[in-house]
Amino acid sequence: MTGFEVVDAQGTVPLTVQDEGAGSPVEIRQWIAGRPVVGDLTVRYRAPTDNAPPIRGSGPPFGLRTEGGGLSGAGSIFLVQPVTTKLYRLAVRWDLAAMGKGATGTSSFGDGDVELPAGSADRLGSAFFMAGPMYRHPTQLRTSGFSSAWLAGAPADTAAVMAWTEKLHAWYDVNFKGGGELPYRVFLRFNPVNPGGGVALTNSFVATYDDKTTAESMKLTLAHEMLHTWAPTLGAHSSRTSDTQWFGEGIAVYYARLLPWRAGLIGADAFLDDLNETAGRYYSNALIDTPNDQIAGRFWEETLVRVLPYDRGSMYMAVVDEKIRKASGGKRSLDDIMQKLIDAKRAGVETTQDTWLELITAELGPVAKTDFEAMLAGAVQRPSSGAFGPCFTASTTTLRQFELGFAGKSLVKPVRIVEGLVPGSAADKAGLRNGDEILKPVGLDNVQSDQKLTVTWQVRRGGKTLAITYLPRGKSVEVPQWKRVEGVSDAACKF
Ligand SMILES: [Zn+2]
Repeated sequence: MTGFEVVDAQGTVPLTVQDEGAGSPVEIRQWIAGRPVVGDLTVRYRAPTDNAPPIRGSGPPFGLRTEGGGLSGAGSIFLVQPVTTKLYRLAVRWDLAAMGKGATGTSSFGDGDVELPAGSADRLGSAFFMAGPMYRHPTQLRTSGFSSAWLAGAPADTAAVMAWTEKLHAWYDVNFKGGGELPYRVFLRFNPVNPGGGVALTNSFVATYDDKTTAESMKLTLAHEMLHTWAPTLGAHSSRTSDTQWFGEGIAVYYARLLPWRAGLIGADAFLDDLNETAGRYYSNALIDTPNDQIAGRFWEETLVRVLPYDRGSMYMAVVDEKIRKASGGKRSLDDIMQKLIDAKRAGVETTQDTWLELITAELGPVAKTDFEAMLAGAVQRPSSGAFGPCFTASTTTLRQFELGFAGKSLVKPVRIVEGLVPGSAADKAGLRNGDEILKPVGLDNVQSDQKLTVTWQVRRGGKTLAITYLPRGKSVEVPQWKRVEGVSDAACKF
C-alpha cells in the first residue's frame, strides 16, 4: 500500500503500523489510530498491482493482478477493513474512467455498483473483484444463479466450457434439491505459479490458468470448486483439535467426478482418468499415513501432506459409500448422508465431526467409529475392486514416488535456501546443493500427480545463476488403479 491516509472531522489521523504473523501463512497489517477519531472516517491509499508471483508458490490466487487490460484480486489483499464486530452497510462503487471504454466492474457481490445490507465488515475480504474489458457467460447480466467473467488471455474455448459449467450448476441444483438460485460467479484468471488450481470465496470461485491450460482441462476443477458451495462443512468437535479438511475436500474430490458423470457431462473414461489420478497420487504418497492432526501444521511446507486431505478424504468417502450400499442392500448410499448434512446446513443446524459419526454409525454400526478414528490416524483407505460401480475393476500398476529431494520447508520462506538435500536423490544427482537460493517458486501439486513432469529450479549459487532440472521421483511402488471391465456398456456403468 502507498499513500495511506486517514482523515476524520479533525483532520489527518496519526497512524502507527502493526504487523502480525510475519512468515506465517496469514500475515496481517494493522493501522492503529494515534488519537480517538471523531465523526466520519475517510481512508485513502493505493494498492500495488505488480503481478509479483506469490512467495508461497501454491498459495491461493488472491493477490492483485493485471491482465488483458483489467485487474482482479481478493478483497483480503487490497481492501482495508475495520477491526470491529459492529455491523455495517457496505457500498461498492467502481470508478473505471481510467480504463477506457468497455471496462466494467464485477465482484462476488454482483455487477457494477452494489449496496449490501448491514452485516460484518469482513465480507469484503472474502469477496473477489474483477474490472476491465471483461468477457462474460451468460452475456446477459443476471442478479441470481450462475454467471462467469474473465479477461483477455484466457484459454480459447473458455466460453464453451463456461456453458458446460452452467449446465452442471443447474444439475447440482436438481441433485441437491435447490441452492442454484443464489448468485454464483466464476472468475477465471491467470496464475503464473500453480495453474489449474482454484479457490472458493463468497458466492463465487476463482479458477486459474496459464498459457498451456486448456479450458477443457479446467472442467473438473470447476466441478470441484462449485461443489464447495453446495456441500456441507463440518466443524471440529470441541474435544478434537484436528481439522476437517478431510471431509470438505474429500467429498469435493469424490463428487466432482461422480456428479458430472451422472449428469452426462463427462464420459466414463474421464471419470476413470480422474479416479486413477487421485489413486495414483494417494497410494504412491511416501507420507500416506501422516495423522490428520499433523496436516495443518505441515500443509504449506510439504506438498505430499498438502494433498492428503483431498486424496485420503475422497478414498475414505468411496469406502463409506460402498459400505452403506452393501449394508442397506443398495437402498442407501453416501448421497443420503450428504443430503441430510445439506438439509441441516440450510436449516442453520451446526454440523460437526460428531454429526458425521452419528450419521455413519446409524448406517454401519459401531465399526464406523473405529474405521473413522483409524482414517484420522492415517490408515490407508482401500475401496474394494467394485467400489466404483460395475464398469470398473481394480488392478495395479507401478509408479515412482514423488520425491522433492530436499526439505519442503525451504520453499515457503521469503528467501528460499535449499536445506536437507537427500543424498542420492534426483535433485542431488542433477546438481542441486544445500545453500542454493531458489529464485522462483514452482507449483508442485501438478508435478506430484504426473509421473513424467520434471521440475526446473532457477537457483543462485555464489554469484552465478543456474537452472537445475530433474524428474522428482524416488522409489517404485505398486499402487491400485481401476480399469474398464470389457463388455459392460456405458449405460450400465453409473452408480
Ligand atoms: Zn476444494
